[in-house]
Amino acid sequence: MRVLKFGGTSVGIAANAEQALRLVRERARQDLVVVVSALSGVTNQLVELTRAGAPREGLAEEIARRHLEHARALGVAESVLAQHLAALREEAARSPRDVALSPADADRVLALGERLAAELFAAALTARGTPAKAVIAGEAGLVTDEQFGQATPLPEAAARIAGALADRSLLPVVTGFIGVTRDGATTTLGRGGSDYSAAILGAALGAEEIEIWTDTNGMLSADPRIVPEARPVPRLSFAEASELAYFGAKVLHPKTLLPAMEKG
Ligand code: ASP
Ligand code: MG
Repeated sequence: MRVLKFGGTSVGIAANAEQALRLVRERARQDLVVVVSALSGVTNQLVELTRAGAPREGLAEEIARRHLEHARALGVAESVLAQHLAALREEAARSPRDVALSPADADRVLALGERLAAELFAAALTARGTPAKAVIAGEAGLVTDEQFGQATPLPEAAARIAGALADRSLLPVVTGFIGVTRDGATTTLGRGGSDYSAAILGAALGAEEIEIWTDTNGMLSADPRIVPEARPVPRLSFAEASELAYFGAKVLHPKTLLPAMEKG
């Protein structure tokens, strides 16, 4: 089986999302698990929403509007998002505005971006004839410690993931970036953590390959936003890729290589 991960720019811009959906559909006969990030820019808005003095309800409405528009663009019924949008509005309304959210509350809010994205992507696949289901990280067995904002999976996560995702008759579209504590509290794995989620799932499921789909052609010799003549590096060892990620290559979350290395 394979894990295919799509980041925020891949799922969050309608034309790109169509391409990602097509890619998954072309391969739906293979045994796949899809992992998605929040639509591009949404996690930043959610971070903003958790800060002291933020115009929380206004931000929540902006985020809601973005997702509803995206749902329309993808031909997905708005009702698919209702539960998560209600949760978003509730979170925005309930906390006193002049205080920043606690790390635990903030993680619950940040997780909404991935929950909405997974719901949208799964519904869009289903609407195009590939029956899929959104799986929130907790349901997927991604159990972590209680280090909110920078959580690490617990050893038991692998077996729980393998059990939770054993039935793949509906193509699982799993939330990247988020986990759950043993007590059921939502955690996040650190910014850019959806790559890491894909690797954790891949290792736990014994995947042949973890594919990170993104908007650059692989790992480049330099950051293309700074060095226009940067070119793709055709082959990298695990160690080289890991080193590039640790030293700041934005294309891959630094912890991503570890689960892949452990399982070869
Ligand atoms: N949406 C999260 C972030 O922006 C996780 C990710 O994109 O990988 O950090
Ligand atoms: Mg990323």
